[in-house]
Amino acid sequence: MISERMAWHSDESHREQKDAVAAKLQRLSASGQPLVPLRVPTKNPKLVSSFWARAWCRHLESYHDYETRLPRGRSYLRNGHVYNLEIEPGLITAQVTGSDLYDVRIPVEPMENVEAFQKACAGSVSTVLDLLSGKLSDTLLQLVTHPTQGLFPAPGQIKFVCSCPDWASLCKHSAAVLYGVAVRFEADPALFFLLRGIDPAQFVAGQSLGAPPASHEIPEEDLSSIFGIDIPPP
Ligand SMILES: [Zn+2]
Repeated sequence: MISERMAWHSDESHREQKDAVAAKLQRLSASGQPLVPLRVPTKNPKLVSSFWARAWCRHLESYHDYETRLPRGRSYLRNGHVYNLEIEPGLITAQVTGSDLYDVRIPVEPMENVEAFQKACAGSVSTVLDLLSGKLSDTLLQLVTHPTQGLFPAPGQIKFVCSCPDWASLCKHSAAVLYGVAVRFEADPALFFLLRGIDPAQFVAGQSLGAPPASHEIPEEDLSSIFGIDIPPP
């Protein structure tokens, strides 16, 4: 009987917490700060299928320190708890609902060995599109996904800051956001490079590191020679 009573109390407090969070979301929405939920494809049992999204998940799942919280985070994401997920150079931010509404910040240190990495894959990538779609040689795949020398952040380069009271360095809210990031990479793999502060064009054959972005404007005299037309002087 006692356990039944306790279960009832726990159900009751869980419902109260849920109502309080829903009220908070409504207040934010009414004050002009609506929370935008991250939509997760429900039909894909693997969550993501594209190269960068899957490689991101595999990389994180390879660290034993994370393994206890990742499955919980994954189901949190699937159940629609992640909102306002933003990716910018070196930083992921989001809000996650649970017993309350929590702010999650995940700073990611910039990649240190970009130049060495670029040298290692010199001439192996023909187009930015090949890179973004993961059409890479086996050698390049190994370089890219290397646990410490590759393009993915090592555990020391990634921090988890969540406003929840969980003592663990990776709480289920941050874990949910990490999987949310994979969903965003699935839709737009260029976001991976944005997060790492790398221009994907740096890895394409013939591009030099640190060169200014190529101008899209072609001088008029070149136009006339390219197309074989006469352009009257202004
Ligand atoms: Zn948390």
